[in-house]
Amino acid sequence: MKLMPTCNEAVEMMSKSMDMELTTVERVGLKLHAFLCIHCKKYWDQILMVRDAVRQAVEKQESEESTCSLKPLPEQRKAELKALINNSLST
Ligand SMILES: [Zn+2]
Repeated sequence: MKLMPTCNEAVEMMSKSMDMELTTVERVGLKLHAFLCIHCKKYWDQILMVRDAVRQAVEKQESEESTCSLKPLPEQRKAELKALINNSLST
């Protein structure tokens, strides 16, 4: 297998890398190609930017969701829990 992919192959690998891990050979070839080919480098940068933006949006959403589930307990529930703990401590 040749090390240096063509532009078409490089673009194919880029879109593949969005969905799955590339093999080491593919990654090296892609890096090499992006290093030598300014057009693919630009395209690759854009793909990475979009991927990062998507990832950040997902992470942000997830952290917001977990914050929601961490809303403080209602006072009554707190008192119940306290009574429960006191009971189990005293027995
Ligand atoms: Zn290229």
